[in-house]
Amino acid sequence: MSEKSFIIIWGILFFSALIIQGIILKLNKNAKFQKKFFPIALAINLAIFLLLPIFQFFPSLLILAFIGFGVLLFFLSIKRTKYCDVCQKFRYNRTFLEKMNFCQVCGNEFI
Ligand SMILES: [Zn+2]
Repeated sequence: MSEKSFIIIWGILFFSALIIQGIILKLNKNAKFQKKFFPIALAINLAIFLLLPIFQFFPSLLILAFIGFGVLLFFLSIKRTKYCDVCQKFRYNRTFLEKMNFCQVCGNEFI
């Protein structure tokens, strides 16, 4: 496969995954479902995203660095994202060191 066609397929794959997840989240507003769905969707997105550096740098060991970075990003995002039951939306902690104990929008406490 040429690099150009790979990037096109990769782009389609990545954006269709995002669109499908967006539709699923719009259709199912159930908070329990959304909380469960979030890490799965994130893992899928990261896995698809990592295909690009893996394809470009294979068989260099550099791909291990990308995979490690992807895994790190995955756990950081899970830790820093909270679901607000009142707003029924995900809130992302944008501060670096502070813990996010309350929703920035409605003030609901995260348990
Ligand atoms: Zn809220």
